[in-house]
Amino acid sequence: KKIVIAIDGFSSTGKSTVARKLAKELGYIYVDTGAMYRAVTYFALENGFISEHKLDKEGLISELENIHITFKFNEELGFAEVYLNGENIEADIRTLKVSQHVSHIAEISEVRRKLVQQQQLMGKDKGVVMDGRDIATVVFPDAELKIFMTATAEKRATRRYKELLERGHNLSYDDVLKNVITRDEIDSTREDSPLVKSDDAIEFDNSEMSIEEQLSSIRQLVKE
Ligand code: C5P
Repeated sequence: KKIVIAIDGFSSTGKSTVARKLAKELGYIYVDTGAMYRAVTYFALENGFISEHKLDKEGLISELENIHITFKFNEELGFAEVYLNGENIEADIRTLKVSQHVSHIAEISEVRRKLVQQQQLMGKDKGVVMDGRDIATVVFPDAELKIFMTATAEKRATRRYKELLERGHNLSYDDVLKNVITRDEIDSTREDSPLVKSDDAIEFDNSEMSIEEQLSSIRQLVKE
Protein backbone atom coordinates (compact mmCIF):
# COMPACT_ATOMS: atom_id res chain seq x y z
CA LYS A 1 0.00 0.00 0.00
CA LYS A 2 1.28 3.43 -0.89
CA ILE A 3 1.14 5.92 1.92
CA VAL A 4 1.65 9.61 2.61
CA ILE A 5 4.70 10.45 4.72
CA ALA A 6 4.71 13.96 6.19
CA ILE A 7 8.00 15.40 7.38
CA ASP A 8 7.71 18.73 9.16
CA GLY A 9 10.04 20.69 11.35
CA PHE A 10 12.20 23.72 11.89
CA SER A 11 14.41 25.34 9.25
CA SER A 12 17.45 23.44 8.06
CA THR A 13 16.83 20.30 10.07
CA GLY A 14 17.86 18.21 7.08
CA LYS A 15 14.26 17.32 6.26
CA SER A 16 14.73 17.50 2.53
CA THR A 17 17.84 15.31 2.44
CA VAL A 18 16.12 12.54 4.39
CA ALA A 19 12.80 12.96 2.56
CA ARG A 20 14.47 12.79 -0.83
CA LYS A 21 16.44 9.63 -0.03
CA LEU A 22 13.42 7.98 1.52
CA ALA A 23 11.24 8.73 -1.49
CA LYS A 24 13.85 7.28 -3.80
CA GLU A 25 14.08 4.05 -1.79
CA LEU A 26 10.33 3.62 -1.68
CA GLY A 27 9.74 4.64 -5.29
CA TYR A 28 7.56 7.50 -4.06
CA ILE A 29 7.42 11.04 -5.28
CA TYR A 30 9.08 13.70 -3.15
CA VAL A 31 7.64 17.18 -2.78
CA ASP A 32 9.70 20.01 -1.30
CA THR A 33 6.98 22.45 -0.26
CA GLY A 34 9.53 24.98 1.01
CA ALA A 35 10.67 25.35 -2.61
CA MET A 36 7.15 26.46 -3.51
CA TYR A 37 7.09 29.24 -0.89
CA ARG A 38 10.56 30.19 -2.05
CA ALA A 39 9.36 30.32 -5.67
CA VAL A 40 6.58 32.78 -4.76
CA THR A 41 9.16 34.83 -2.83
CA TYR A 42 11.48 34.87 -5.82
CA PHE A 43 8.60 36.02 -8.00
CA ALA A 44 7.79 38.79 -5.51
CA LEU A 45 11.41 39.97 -5.47
CA GLU A 46 11.75 39.87 -9.25
CA ASN A 47 8.52 41.76 -9.83
CA GLY A 48 9.04 44.54 -7.33
CA PHE A 49 6.55 43.47 -4.68
CA ILE A 50 9.30 43.48 -2.09
CA SER A 51 11.37 46.60 -1.63
CA GLU A 52 13.46 47.85 1.30
CA HIS A 53 11.38 46.48 4.19
CA LYS A 54 8.07 46.95 2.45
CA LEU A 55 5.92 44.16 1.13
CA ASP A 56 3.12 44.94 -1.33
CA LYS A 57 0.82 42.15 -0.22
CA GLU A 58 -2.21 43.20 -2.21
CA GLY A 59 -0.14 43.55 -5.37
CA LEU A 60 1.32 40.10 -4.93
CA ILE A 61 -2.06 38.55 -4.14
CA SER A 62 -3.50 39.99 -7.34
CA GLU A 63 -0.71 38.30 -9.33
CA LEU A 64 -1.03 34.89 -7.70
CA GLU A 65 -2.98 33.44 -10.60
CA ASN A 66 0.00 34.20 -12.85
CA ILE A 67 2.39 32.18 -10.73
CA HIS A 68 2.79 28.64 -12.00
CA ILE A 69 5.09 26.40 -10.03
CA THR A 70 6.14 23.03 -11.41
CA PHE A 71 8.75 20.42 -10.63
CA LYS A 72 10.78 18.54 -13.18
CA PHE A 73 12.99 15.57 -12.38
CA ASN A 74 16.63 16.08 -13.25
CA GLU A 75 18.17 12.68 -13.98
CA GLU A 76 21.69 13.90 -13.48
CA LEU A 77 21.04 15.49 -10.10
CA GLY A 78 18.65 12.76 -9.01
CA PHE A 79 15.95 15.13 -7.81
CA ALA A 80 13.21 17.37 -9.11
CA GLU A 81 14.06 20.99 -9.72
CA VAL A 82 11.58 23.81 -9.28
CA TYR A 83 10.33 25.92 -12.18
CA LEU A 84 8.51 29.24 -12.12
CA ASN A 85 6.40 29.88 -15.22
CA GLY A 86 8.59 27.46 -17.15
CA GLU A 87 11.92 28.85 -15.97
CA ASN A 88 14.29 26.74 -13.89
CA ILE A 89 14.80 28.70 -10.65
CA GLU A 90 16.29 25.94 -8.50
CA ALA A 91 19.51 27.87 -7.83
CA ASP A 92 17.78 31.25 -7.49
CA ILE A 93 15.55 30.21 -4.59
CA ARG A 94 18.35 28.98 -2.32
CA THR A 95 19.95 32.37 -1.75
CA LEU A 96 20.08 34.06 1.65
CA LYS A 97 18.04 36.90 0.17
CA VAL A 98 15.11 34.60 -0.58
CA SER A 99 15.57 32.96 2.84
CA GLN A 100 15.31 36.36 4.49
CA HIS A 101 11.94 37.16 2.91
CA VAL A 102 10.25 33.80 2.54
CA SER A 103 8.69 33.59 6.01
CA HIS A 104 6.84 36.86 5.44
CA ILE A 105 5.48 35.59 2.15
CA ALA A 106 4.45 32.36 3.89
CA GLU A 107 2.35 34.38 6.35
CA ILE A 108 -0.02 35.45 3.59
CA SER A 109 -3.16 33.30 3.74
CA GLU A 110 -3.91 33.62 0.02
CA VAL A 111 -0.44 32.30 -0.79
CA ARG A 112 -0.86 29.38 1.58
CA ARG A 113 -4.27 28.51 0.21
CA LYS A 114 -2.95 28.36 -3.34
CA LEU A 115 0.09 26.25 -2.49
CA VAL A 116 -1.70 23.88 -0.12
CA GLN A 117 -4.24 23.14 -2.82
CA GLN A 118 -1.52 22.32 -5.32
CA GLN A 119 0.31 20.16 -2.75
CA GLN A 120 -2.83 18.17 -2.02
CA LEU A 121 -3.27 17.47 -5.73
CA MET A 122 0.38 16.47 -6.11
CA GLY A 123 0.12 13.88 -3.34
CA LYS A 124 -3.36 12.62 -4.03
CA ASP A 125 -3.60 8.82 -4.31
CA LYS A 126 0.15 8.45 -4.73
CA GLY A 127 2.97 7.31 -2.54
CA VAL A 128 4.47 10.60 -1.47
CA VAL A 129 7.04 12.00 0.92
CA MET A 130 6.33 15.67 1.50
CA ASP A 131 8.38 18.00 3.65
CA GLY A 132 7.45 21.39 5.03
CA ARG A 133 5.96 23.04 8.09
CA ASP A 134 2.24 22.26 7.93
CA ILE A 135 2.08 18.95 6.06
CA ALA A 136 0.88 16.87 9.02
CA THR A 137 -1.43 19.58 10.38
CA VAL A 138 -2.96 21.11 7.24
CA VAL A 139 -1.98 19.56 3.91
CA PHE A 140 -2.37 15.87 4.84
CA PRO A 141 -3.88 15.60 8.31
CA ASP A 142 -4.60 11.93 7.52
CA ALA A 143 -1.01 11.09 6.54
CA GLU A 144 -0.14 7.56 7.63
CA LEU A 145 3.28 8.55 8.95
CA LYS A 146 4.17 11.92 10.47
CA ILE A 147 7.68 12.91 11.47
CA PHE A 148 8.63 16.12 13.25
CA MET A 149 12.32 17.02 12.99
CA THR A 150 14.23 19.19 15.39
CA ALA A 151 17.88 19.93 16.14
CA THR A 152 19.66 22.70 17.99
CA ALA A 153 19.81 26.03 16.15
CA GLU A 154 23.62 25.88 16.11
CA LYS A 155 23.69 22.43 14.51
CA ARG A 156 21.20 23.54 11.91
CA ALA A 157 23.02 26.77 11.11
CA THR A 158 26.32 24.91 10.81
CA ARG A 159 24.87 22.44 8.30
CA ARG A 160 23.17 25.19 6.33
CA TYR A 161 26.30 27.34 6.32
CA LYS A 162 28.44 24.49 4.94
CA GLU A 163 25.86 23.74 2.29
CA LEU A 164 25.70 27.36 1.13
CA LEU A 165 29.50 27.67 1.07
CA GLU A 166 29.71 24.54 -1.06
CA ARG A 167 27.28 26.10 -3.48
CA GLY A 168 29.59 29.07 -3.76
CA HIS A 169 27.66 31.59 -1.69
CA ASN A 170 29.68 34.15 0.16
CA LEU A 171 28.15 34.78 3.58
CA SER A 172 28.82 34.64 7.30
CA TYR A 173 27.87 31.93 9.79
CA ASP A 174 26.24 34.57 12.01
CA ASP A 175 23.90 35.67 9.23
CA VAL A 176 22.89 32.08 8.60
CA LEU A 177 22.27 31.44 12.31
CA LYS A 178 20.26 34.64 12.60
CA ASN A 179 18.17 33.65 9.57
CA VAL A 180 17.44 30.17 10.92
CA ILE A 181 16.31 31.56 14.29
CA THR A 182 14.24 34.38 12.76
CA ARG A 183 12.45 32.05 10.35
CA ASP A 184 11.58 29.60 13.12
CA GLU A 185 10.18 32.48 15.16
CA ILE A 186 8.01 33.85 12.35
CA ASP A 187 6.92 30.38 11.17
CA SER A 188 5.92 29.32 14.69
CA THR A 189 3.95 32.43 15.57
CA ARG A 190 2.11 33.28 12.35
CA GLU A 191 -1.67 33.21 12.48
CA ASP A 192 -2.32 30.94 9.50
CA SER A 193 -1.03 27.37 9.87
CA PRO A 194 1.80 28.00 12.30
CA LEU A 195 4.62 25.51 12.58
CA VAL A 196 3.65 23.14 15.39
CA LYS A 197 4.21 19.48 16.01
CA SER A 198 1.08 17.54 15.17
CA ASP A 199 -0.07 15.53 18.23
CA ASP A 200 0.31 12.29 16.33
CA ALA A 201 3.74 13.06 14.87
CA ILE A 202 6.88 11.27 15.97
CA GLU A 203 9.58 13.68 17.07
CA PHE A 204 13.15 13.22 15.88
CA ASP A 205 15.89 15.32 17.40
CA ASN A 206 18.61 14.70 14.84
CA SER A 207 21.30 16.90 16.43
CA GLU A 208 23.44 13.82 16.98
CA MET A 209 22.03 11.54 14.27
CA SER A 210 23.57 10.76 10.91
CA ILE A 211 21.41 10.69 7.81
CA GLU A 212 21.74 6.90 7.69
CA GLU A 213 20.58 6.60 11.31
CA GLN A 214 17.56 8.77 10.59
CA LEU A 215 16.72 6.77 7.49
CA SER A 216 16.90 3.43 9.23
CA SER A 217 14.59 4.62 12.02
CA ILE A 218 12.09 5.92 9.51
CA ARG A 219 12.32 2.72 7.44
CA GLN A 220 11.33 0.79 10.55
CA LEU A 221 8.33 3.09 11.06
CA VAL A 222 7.25 2.69 7.43
CA LYS A 223 7.21 -1.11 7.88
CA GLU A 224 4.99 -0.81 10.93
O1 C5P B 1 11.79 24.25 3.83
P1 C5P B 1 12.40 25.63 3.56
O2 C5P B 1 13.36 26.02 4.64
O3 C5P B 1 12.94 25.75 2.19
O4 C5P B 1 11.14 26.61 3.65
C1 C5P B 1 11.29 27.99 3.48
C2 C5P B 1 10.17 28.74 4.21
O5 C5P B 1 8.92 28.47 3.58
C3 C5P B 1 9.95 28.38 5.67
O6 C5P B 1 10.82 29.09 6.54
C4 C5P B 1 8.49 28.79 5.87
O7 C5P B 1 8.37 30.18 6.09
C5 C5P B 1 7.86 28.48 4.52
N1 C5P B 1 7.15 27.20 4.49
C6 C5P B 1 5.87 27.13 4.99
N2 C5P B 1 5.14 25.99 4.89
C7 C5P B 1 5.67 24.89 4.30
C8 C5P B 1 6.98 24.93 3.79
C9 C5P B 1 7.72 26.09 3.91
O8 C5P B 1 5.38 28.11 5.54
N3 C5P B 1 4.93 23.79 4.19
